[in-house]
Amino acid sequence: MAIRSYLVGLECPECQESYDPGLPQFLCRCGSPLLPRYDLRAAAAALTRDRLGERVASLWRYRELLPVLGDPLSLGEGWTPLLDAPHLAQELGVADLWIKDEAPNPTGSFKARGMAVAVARARELGARRLAAPSAGNAGAALAAYARRAGLEACVVLPADAGSIFKQEVRLYGARLVEVHGTIAEAGRYVRERLIPEGWYDLSTLREPYRVEGKKTMGYELAEQLGWKLPTAILYPTGGGTGLIGMWKAFAEMEQLGWIGAERPRMVCVQSAGCSPIARAFLSGAQRAEPWAEPNTYAEGLRVPSPLADRLILRALRESRGTAVLASDEEIRGAAAELAWTEGVLCCPEGAATWVGAKKLAASGWLGGGDRLVLFNTGSGYKYPLPNRMEPWQPHWTHMSP
Ligand SMILES: *Cc1c(COP(=O)(O)O)cnc(C)c1O
Ligand SMILES: [Zn+2]
Repeated sequence: MAIRSYLVGLECPECQESYDPGLPQFLCRCGSPLLPRYDLRAAAAALTRDRLGERVASLWRYRELLPVLGDPLSLGEGWTPLLDAPHLAQELGVADLWIKDEAPNPTGSFKARGMAVAVARARELGARRLAAPSAGNAGAALAAYARRAGLEACVVLPADAGSIFKQEVRLYGARLVEVHGTIAEAGRYVRERLIPEGWYDLSTLREPYRVEGKKTMGYELAEQLGWKLPTAILYPTGGGTGLIGMWKAFAEMEQLGWIGAERPRMVCVQSAGCSPIARAFLSGAQRAEPWAEPNTYAEGLRVPSPLADRLILRALRESRGTAVLASDEEIRGAAAELAWTEGVLCCPEGAATWVGAKKLAASGWLGGGDRLVLFNTGSGYKYPLPNRMEPWQPHWTHMSP
């Protein structure tokens, strides 16, 4: 049987309105993001989880559950390592701790997952000129995949984004626009200046397929852990696409019969300098108010008004998860600890999850029965490296260089 997509619709998670996925679609009339739906019964008949071992070592191994009907677009995205981190587990006093390391992705971050799928889908829907606002990594990924697909791209970045991101965008031959402000102003530029000129909007969650690329992190976690999900996932949350995607993946896998009803507690880790979701979660609100004057060197977390605030908050609450903050100083220290103890170089966003894990272990929210996954969402090489630090374990001092 030929491998194919079982995409059947686009549905609004707020008002349940459905839309034809054969046409370009963006937000629902009610303003909510749309989520793709699949014929999971037919997909389960076509693909059993035991057959996945024969599949390609990229996110396209889950082809039936992705929205691309024609040719996939690939630079080798996904199927990233799940690294065992026994020293960190011991330090926290939890049963297991793994780092899902997204740094090996093309263009050095998990944004490649979303863009591989969304650019392939946009191409088959007839788009030729693709635009997106970005804090940095999404722009690099869009530029690379658009080039690979033979399409034009325009990336809008904050003027104060790291220069490496701007160089990447130019290197892949995309147009680069710099705006004053954050990704919020970049998004406004895309909507007010580029869309009216005929550019196709690839803003995350306005465009409904980037989340499908990112949901494969949830499929991979289950497959890599032998279909036994962790008890908690710590995720560095900006726009929340990955968190929403994984939550959706777990629901799909249950319907496919691949996992049971158990779910990890989802933990949103944000920067103390920009934490609209954590603030809303901790105050019991259903919506997040925009964060005034966002400031953090973890650029992927500098998202002052996430479009899908309701979906993120719902996943946190349904999973009995929580939200936790990390300051830039704590993040720098955590990045150094991760490098020293496990040999893993994390981006600041990824290092923030280790800050969160330590705080939640200290408060007793995480304990001896927990099996944790921390997400390192991108490469540490795109940011200033943290300074070397001494180990906290006295018996390691003799290993000190
Ligand atoms: C974009 C980004 C994030 C935030 O991702 P969301 O899924 O939008 O919350 C985290 N880390 C890095 C490195 C990023 O580039
Ligand atoms: Zn709606």
